Amino acid sequence: MIKKHQPRRLASLCLLSVFALTLPTYVSAEGQVNMPSKGKNALFSPAGQDAKNRYTNIADNLPSVSGKVRAKFFLGRIASTFSGRSGAPNLVPNDGALLRENAKNTTSTQPTVTWVGHATMLVQMEHVTFLTDPIWSNKPSPVPFAGPKRFVKPGISLENLPPIDFVLISHNHYDHLDLPTLRDLAKLNAETIFFVPEGNGKLLRKNGIEQVQELNWGDTASYKGTTIHCLPTQHWSKRSLTDTRKALWSSWAVTGPERRFYFAGDTGYFAGFKEIGEKLGPFDLAAVPIGAYEPTAMMKVSHMDPEEAVQAALDLQANTAVAMHFGTFDLSEEPLAEPPLRFKAAAEATGLGVNNSWVLDVGETRQF
Ligand SMILES: [Zn+2]
Repeated sequence: MIKKHQPRRLASLCLLSVFALTLPTYVSAEGQVNMPSKGKNALFSPAGQDAKNRYTNIADNLPSVSGKVRAKFFLGRIASTFSGRSGAPNLVPNDGALLRENAKNTTSTQPTVTWVGHATMLVQMEHVTFLTDPIWSNKPSPVPFAGPKRFVKPGISLENLPPIDFVLISHNHYDHLDLPTLRDLAKLNAETIFFVPEGNGKLLRKNGIEQVQELNWGDTASYKGTTIHCLPTQHWSKRSLTDTRKALWSSWAVTGPERRFYFAGDTGYFAGFKEIGEKLGPFDLAAVPIGAYEPTAMMKVSHMDPEEAVQAALDLQANTAVAMHFGTFDLSEEPLAEPPLRFKAAAEATGLGVNNSWVLDVGETRQF
């Protein structure tokens, strides 16, 4: 049975590997969102663009990855789809009852964070509920029949979610911007607002999602008493053979009188964390990516290893760091169980500490 499907799987994986290698309209949700604040008073410079209008990172001397390293990596990825891997995170299914109840309580919402899987965090604070990089699909991929496999189901079903006020999207890679999920979320709640870095709005609108806000680094928007900050990261973007770095990537902060939350998205370790910490910290909670760091020659520039993630949390002046971007999809070569162990060890060895470095089970909710 498995053998029979292998040629098709192989062809589709090759196709995926090719993809992998290789005028904003403002819509307001009935006065809940204030027009994004751009320009002059911004705390951070907008992203640069090169002569071909491709967005650039703050550091302009980042090493490039050789074709040989890429080829070896993608052959390894294809081979890995035919073998099992142990060490995926635990799943504790969440029926969403407490989260929906919490969302209804408009006077004293408990600040909570729930790990849905990968970089998808469900956050409640300041009487708003939001999702980061939501992906409920089994395969982050341009084609439905191929892509990296999902090791753990989402921790909560879409139907059991509390009403989502807004969604933060870090960039357009398939494991972070999952159109089937975004379409489902827009259908579930027509008022949900989708915040994307500049250049990503067109893709969402083409897919019938109208409540989109595009922000550049340093831009802010306000929503029901919270401020949403679009902030730098060190990464890149690509969804097809011809759109490399044509849409921006970012991290996000959501701040209010009671809580300050930071979502790092997908990023290499860079000096920007210190600047963000100095200008917007301290944060009560920072969600930091700790996985997809091997092979280093391929990943170093655009992903952090667990030690770098802990350093990022310290730079950000985060009271607590919650780990994400590991154990969910088959994206890289490190052992599946390694990132959280190294994350805890690094936190223990630094000022962050074990109690303030959270590794959640998929589906687990914690108050912060
Ligand atoms: Zn990415």
